[in-house]
Parts: sequence; C-alpha cells; structure tokens
Amino acid sequence: AMPNKKKYNVNGEPTGMKAQIQFADQKQEFNKRPSKIGRRSLSRSISQSSTDSYSSGVFPRCVPPALFPPHPHFPFAISLAEMPALMALRKRAQGEKPLAGAKIVGCTHITAQTAVLMETLGALGAQCRWAACNIYSTLNEVAAALAESGFPVFAWKGESEDDFWWCIDRCVNVEGWQPNMILDDGGDLTHWIYKKYPNMFKKIKGIVEESVTGVHRLYQLSKAGKLCVPAMNVNDSVTKQKFDNLYCCRESILDGLKRTTDMMFGGKQVVVCGYGEVGKGCCAALKAMGSIVYVTEIDPICALQACMDGFRLVKLNEVIRQVDIVITCTGNKNVVTREHLDRMKNSCIVCNMGHSNTEIDVASLRTPELTWERVRSQVDHVIWPDGKRIVLLAEGRLLNLSCSTVPTFVLSITATTQALALIELYNAPEGRYKQDVYLLPKKMDEYVASLHLPTFDAHLTELTDEQAKYLGLNKNGPFKPNYYRCPPALTLPVPSSSVPSQCPPSPVPSQPCAPAPAWGHLRFNPTHPLR
Ligand code: NAD
Repeated sequence: AMPNKKKYNVNGEPTGMKAQIQFADQKQEFNKRPSKIGRRSLSRSISQSSTDSYSSGVFPRCVPPALFPPHPHFPFAISLAEMPALMALRKRAQGEKPLAGAKIVGCTHITAQTAVLMETLGALGAQCRWAACNIYSTLNEVAAALAESGFPVFAWKGESEDDFWWCIDRCVNVEGWQPNMILDDGGDLTHWIYKKYPNMFKKIKGIVEESVTGVHRLYQLSKAGKLCVPAMNVNDSVTKQKFDNLYCCRESILDGLKRTTDMMFGGKQVVVCGYGEVGKGCCAALKAMGSIVYVTEIDPICALQACMDGFRLVKLNEVIRQVDIVITCTGNKNVVTREHLDRMKNSCIVCNMGHSNTEIDVASLRTPELTWERVRSQVDHVIWPDGKRIVLLAEGRLLNLSCSTVPTFVLSITATTQALALIELYNAPEGRYKQDVYLLPKKMDEYVASLHLPTFDAHLTELTDEQAKYLGLNKNGPFKPNYYRCPPALTLPVPSSSVPSQCPPSPVPSQPCAPAPAWGHLRFNPTHPLR
C-alpha cells in the first residue's frame, strides 16, 4: 500500500497533527452531539455492496510481503492484488492528480477495502474525511489505522444512533474545511448536509451514491426538484451489478452455508426461489458441487433460462417435502410461508440471499407450539411438537452478508467505480452534468472492467478500423449502448428527468447518449502500458 503521509488535525486541516479517532473514552466530545433526528433505518445495511460481514474481521488472504509490503499501520491483511484497479490508479497518480483540490466527505462501511480506497483517493490528490454508514460494520483496527496515518475518521463498531449522527456531523461541521464532493452509501450523509448545512451545496460539485436506498432517495430529491448538485448512481453500473449480484453470490452462497452448517453439497436436493442474477449465481455454484437443483420463478423468461441451463422448474409446493435446502433470492415477500415450513422434512436448511428478511415468513415461526434453539451463531433450530427440526440461518436475513465474507475482488470493482465516478464529477466541465441523477458513463464502466483484466492475464481483442466502422463504434469504446443490460432499478418508476437520456428507449448504438467522460487519457486505452 502506498501510505498517505498527509496529516490532518481533527478539523481536517493538513497540519501534520495526528488525526483523532473518537472512541468512547473521549466523553466530553459527546456533549457536542447534534440531537437525534428520528429513527435511523437499518436498511442501509442491505445496500448491494454492504459489507456487514467484514465485522467478523476475517480477511480472505494474506499479503505476500515481498510483492505488496503492507502499510506498517495497517494490522490487517488483504491482498492488494485483489484490488488491481486501485493499484493501477495509484500508479497513474504518480504522474497526475485528477483529484487535486478535492475535499471528499465519505460515509461508507469502514473496512480494509475502504482503507485501500481512501489511500487511493489520497494518492490521487484528494483530502478525505470519513464516517461509517452502518453502526455495526466498522472494523475498529482499520478506523484506528486510518486515523493514525492521517485520515480523519469518525467511526467505531457498535455506535449508538446518536453516535452515528454525531460522527457524520464531525465530518462536515469543521472550521476551515468544507467538502466539495460527497461519497455516500445509504444517503444519510447527503440527508444530513441537506438538513443541517444546505449552504454547503454551493461548493459541492457532486454526490456519488452507492446503495439502492441512497439512489432511491436521490431520485426522490430530483423528482421534488430539490437536488441541487449532480449525483452519480454507481449502484447501477453494469460491471458493479454483475459482480455484486451474480459473481459475488456464486462465491458466497457456499461459504455462508459451509460456515454455518459444515454440510456437504454433493447429492443434496436444493430449491432456489428466483432465477435472477443472484439465483443464477447460487444455482451455478450448487450445481458445480453436485447438488440437484430445482428453481422456482414467476417470470417466464427467467424460467426459460433456468430450463436452458439444465435446472428443473417447479412450484415450491411440489418439492418442499423432499428438499434438503431452501434458498430464497427473489427480492419479494412471503415466498416461503408457514405452510411450506410445516411441510419441510426434518433437518431442512432454510436461508435467504435476497435483500431483506421478508422472503421467509420467520414471524410465523414465533408461535407457542414451536421451540427455538440457538445452536451456534446465526443458526437456529426450530423444533415442531413431533420433534421435526428445521435449520434457519441468520433468522432469514441475507445469508452471505450475515455469515460469510464478500470477496475483496468484488469490492475492488465497487471501489474503482466509486473512484472513477468521483473523478468524473469533479473534473466534468461546467454544464456536462445538471442537477440530476446520472449513471456512470458506459465508457468508464468498461474501464473499470478493463482495469481488472490484467489480473487474469486476459488478452482483449481490439477492433480493426474496418470492424469499428462496420459496427459504428469508436475503437476505444463505449462498446455497448447505454440501454444494453439497463439495470432493473432503472426500469422501476424513476422520476428523474435524466434517466431517459441515460437509458434511451430506442437503440442508438453509434451515438452513445452519455457525455464523454472527463479523464479521457486514463480511460480505456488498449495501448497503455498498465494494461
Ligand atoms: P432479479 O430481479 O434479477 O431476480 C429476482 C428474481 O426473482 C426475478 O427473476 C423474479 O421474477 C423472481 N421472483 C420474484 N418473485 C418470485 C416468487 N414469488 N417466486 C419465484 N421467483 C420470484 O434480482 P437479483 O439481482 O437476483 O436480486 C435478488 C435479491 O437479492 C434482491 O433483493 C437483491 O437486492 C438481493 N441481492 C443480494 C445480494 C447478496 O449479496 N446476497 C447481492 C445483490 C442483490
């Protein structure tokens, strides 16, 4: 890691003083807390990139010291090779500082991967102040190490609701330092600035938002005509979506099940409810392990895909008596009802990979005739009067975020998308972005992917001039129109007037509708030595 040597004081001034991490023993500071502004929704913890599971402190791999000497302050080990794009951006940053002068206030999960992102933003020229977007997910050792290496970080694991807002306030309510960029995950930071310091938006050049919830809030602001700066919805970037939903779940479904049940998958009968991106990932992993996989779907297109991929499409009722594992990933509610639970066989494992705990009717199991036995962390046996037990994981909350880790490589995609969105908004010439919500330009989305290709020694084919002309494309991209794989979130009723221009209804392949991104020379450049 390339340490950021800059020091800030608690006011965010780069003075060489050590920054402070605010722990509970600094009680006197707490008197300055702002008052609570209502019940904080924990739904942010289910944003698609949420990383609650990191609070377990388990990291995927150790850094080979010879290759990536870790920052001496960072007492955790992630492989920086798993975040290749950020490393590539840092290399570029040795020559240029596209974030010089940027003052970024951030509110995200504070994990080792976030630390790598913050260091990278620092290397690109930005000053950063950070708070946590979730009261549980902060890794204290990471927050402490960041503070020690010069980043003002206000967060600790297990904050109260008041602490949470106090930390956010400490990030923005500083004399002599005013943010000009926001990086948010869940929309709370943005909300706080709107509520308490609306004048700050005069200097803010843009908001980059990470989560479903936060993006939704931004579209609401936009609809109400209250969004006063451009915002970038990075949640719906195609590269990020694929990694968060399909590839991440393909890896983490097995991890979550193994850590909680130590089960063997070969020959087991599994039913996966929903064959969207998450369902496809779960099914692929289980099939590869030798499980017999059934799928339920309501959408004939996804249902047909399941058939073409070799899965039996069934109704849940048809297989519920025989299956060993039930996995929900529909984003819907009451997909598994008490009636289904009553009919399951002894020792059936029930879990959810969808965003909220609504998919399995867990509340219906809280009845006097059923006994609950906590057998280990995140694992409950629910016992029927005849002795039948079902194994309920994470009380029906997201299995992978509750019981396993998300691969660093997945977070690398997210972090790179965030970094490029910040660079784009910060450098965009006046008028390129209006006070509305935008997707990351397709070309940058492609660039995020291209920065991860060298990890696999992958050799991308370049269009010939003749081919580029034939397809009506620029040789350096974008290679697909913006409507290609237009993310599902944007097919929901989206108020923003900018959405049609980001996601046009009719194909215009040779005329990409997104404005050309700003950091042109850094973007997809097949001849650049970094690739
Ligand atoms: P998706 O829309 O691509 O897929 C959901 C599928 O479920 C759709 O095909 C839909 O037709 C189907 N469905 C809806 N109701 C159903 C029902 N009653 N029975 C059977 N099928 C039904 O969405 P996705 O990207 O696969 O995400 C699914 C859920 O997982 C969402 O809630 C999402 O937020 C969440 N998610 C979880 C993770 C994770 O890490 N666990 C990651 C990304 C997304």
